[in-house]
Amino acid sequence: MLAKRRKVNFSYVPSKIENGEKVNRIYLPVDICFGEKVLNTNGDAICGLGQKPMLVTGKKSAITSGALDDVVSLLKSSDKEYFIFNEITENPDLDTIDRAINLFVENKCDYAIGIGGGSPLDASKAIALGAANRLRAKDLYDVANHHQCYPIIAVPTTSGTGSEVTQYSVLSDNEAKKKAGFTSFLVFPIVAYIDPQYTLSVPPIVTRDTAIDALSHLLEGLYSNTRNRLLFPFIYEGIKLIVHNLKDLLGDLRNLDLREKMMRASLYGGIAIAHSGTTLQHAIGYPLTSELGLSHGMANGVAMKAIMELFYPSVKEGLDEMFRQLNMSKEEFYDWLDSLDLIYDGQITEEFIEAKYDEVMQSRNMGNNPFEVNAEQVKEVYRKIGR
Ligand code: NAP
Ligand code: FE
Repeated sequence: MLAKRRKVNFSYVPSKIENGEKVNRIYLPVDICFGEKVLNTNGDAICGLGQKPMLVTGKKSAITSGALDDVVSLLKSSDKEYFIFNEITENPDLDTIDRAINLFVENKCDYAIGIGGGSPLDASKAIALGAANRLRAKDLYDVANHHQCYPIIAVPTTSGTGSEVTQYSVLSDNEAKKKAGFTSFLVFPIVAYIDPQYTLSVPPIVTRDTAIDALSHLLEGLYSNTRNRLLFPFIYEGIKLIVHNLKDLLGDLRNLDLREKMMRASLYGGIAIAHSGTTLQHAIGYPLTSELGLSHGMANGVAMKAIMELFYPSVKEGLDEMFRQLNMSKEEFYDWLDSLDLIYDGQITEEFIEAKYDEVMQSRNMGNNPFEVNAEQVKEVYRKIGR
């Protein structure tokens, strides 16, 4: 049984986990439990991290996936009290997080269990951190406010974000129509319970888009100026798992073996961005989601080819090794991407580009690009999107 902890205050937080050419570091304070029925066999932390968890979910997927049932069964078998907050929508917004923080405190919860796709997982991080420091959601963006955090457990039901192993949470400010993430080592989940069975119910479009999000993370592990060679074997393996299996999975959605492969790829992608951060690939997608409503994975996917072309000369060695391992040329890889129909069905107008390029330039993940990307290059990538 894991020790009970009311609030987590890591005594050791690395000042830098990035590396440069000579030094590579891996720091990942998450107990990663992966496999079928993992909650049945290794679920101790569900009841053991505190007195009363808040279960943070969306409206339906926690139920459809079977994950909520499994968590609640464990809690009931230990006579544990719990509180369910099931109002998390896609791209969780600040107002919802504020409501949940208040309920967490009022109901005297002392740990959070996020169950769902990246949206509920990111929300559980924001709620646990917000409640522990008595913050409004908008104040989560200032790291000076991050002193402690209630423990978090993550139970993913999509294979995409890797949020179960990252120190990031991405929130949306619906008023400002802006999407932005915050980073805190305090929000690394204490335990991640990753069971591919929970993804069997994911519909086809979400299956495709989330896989493309995972692929973005893996590619960004090669693009980032803090890319980490210790992680390259995971990154190449994750990319191969997606490129070799996604199309088969889209034709056979209930295939658990293929779901397992996708979930492993997503985990590797999460581990990659936990170390190397995301890049222009993500920064360019946020306005496509907040303004045009593209899903997170689709927003990454529509720009993937243009960004790979832009970055290729700077990260040629890593990408050529990827193509070699995939047994594909760059053009064949692009053909595979095209075959997924990742196309925005509208037009990216010059008005949109003029209104949004600066938001992209200001995004913190722009600091991770392999070279300093300028405004004109951002605009050019936008011009290549759409029919
Ligand atoms: P999501 O927004 O969590 O969920 C998308 C849709 O899929 C929702 O309608 C959800 O239903 C449904 N769904 C989820 N699991 C399902 C299942 N097993 N069966 C049936 N339907 C299911 O999607 P996501 O792509 O996983 O997460 C995207 C969010 O994560 C974005 O906000 C993105 O910015 C963020 N993100 C975070 C990180 C990080 O490191 N923290 C990295 C990348 C992306 P319900 O609404 O009913 O739940
Ligand atoms: Fe992502």
